[in-house]
Amino acid sequence: MPITEHKVVVGATPHAEGDRIMQICNACRYCEGFCAVFPAMARRLTFTEADVSYLANLCHNCGACYYACQYAPPHEFMVNVPRTFAEVRKETYKNYAWPRALGGLYEWNGIATALVTTLAVCAFLIGVMQTVSPGVLWGTHTGAGSFYKVIAHNTMVAIFGAAFLFVVLAFVMGFRRFWADMDENLSDFASGASFGEAMWNVLTLKYLDGGGEGCTYPDEKPSFTRRTFHHFTFYGFMLCFAATSVGTFKHYLLGWIAPYSLGSLTVILGSLGGIGLLIGPVGLLYLKHSADPMLKDKNQRGMDDGFLMLLFLTSLTGFLLLFFRETTWMGMLLTIHLGVVLGLFLMLPYGKFAHAVYRFAALVRFAIERRRPNTNASFD
Ligand code: SF4
Ligand code: SF4
Repeated sequence: MPITEHKVVVGATPHAEGDRIMQICNACRYCEGFCAVFPAMARRLTFTEADVSYLANLCHNCGACYYACQYAPPHEFMVNVPRTFAEVRKETYKNYAWPRALGGLYEWNGIATALVTTLAVCAFLIGVMQTVSPGVLWGTHTGAGSFYKVIAHNTMVAIFGAAFLFVVLAFVMGFRRFWADMDENLSDFASGASFGEAMWNVLTLKYLDGGGEGCTYPDEKPSFTRRTFHHFTFYGFMLCFAATSVGTFKHYLLGWIAPYSLGSLTVILGSLGGIGLLIGPVGLLYLKHSADPMLKDKNQRGMDDGFLMLLFLTSLTGFLLLFFRETTWMGMLLTIHLGVVLGLFLMLPYGKFAHAVYRFAALVRFAIERRRPNTNASFD
């Protein structure tokens, strides 16, 4: 029978288990060259809750240390760093959520994502049906401003501007508390070299290269598949964001009104990003479902799946809108697409996207620490 459990102390909190495992790893140090977690761990002799959160957010769940570990199950030490740290990360997201009361959404994130997105789509549908006639909704509109005949530009700006500000505020508040708990100064976060190093590690997904051979995910065989699909997803998201920014620039500074031509920079960026968001999330979903269960926290399946499916749906509805924007389906497709995008926005601070904020903060701190003398050097 395959081993699927690893807890030695039944009912131990994820942070307590993380502390226990780090004590063992700190005595062993076999995995020191695998990723940023182990050099960061080696700078400490004891692990506070904030330390465990920090180390957990440095972990990319690549599985290398689990497969290399002589103390992994069935050994009585039951060391399983990737799964324990996955559990700790969820606690981090909950603890630092803003407003705090919404931290509970991480516990039932899959259902919450489906519910919020459905409600957002319904709200857009009801809003449109209340404000425009069926003739306008199902009419054929072409040329500049055709979208705004169905939903006024100012209405879109008000809804998405408010949602965007809320998302930014939620992440800034969470980040500030996380950073303060690690006893770091805000001024150090923005220091050029450390920030630049962390940014480079994010852009290249350095810690999913397994030291050059690829990471051991979804199984023991090293591969770059996960990093490739993550790149599709990440850069797809960034290209879509760039397309929206270019569109905003054109609207307000050049007075060019959407929709834009197929050859325009906005549509090219959005289409390339959309392709990334079709390929990346499907690939990551496949890998997640075929991954070794020992690496995963099964309670986070809804959160992982919900976020990836929402990214996929955002891209799919965007492409449908692009293909059918000069037909009678434009009004309905625009309404559904905006509802899905709003659902994605509203759930960003309470789902898988949170890993981007806390992992980046942890990577910046790691880069800062690397530039400081190691006070535990005598134990190396
Ligand atoms: S994961 Fe296992 S092998 Fe690696 S440092 Fe920890 S105890 Fe040692
Ligand atoms: S699972 Fe990978 S990233 Fe996480 S601690 Fe182990 S080796 Fe490092």
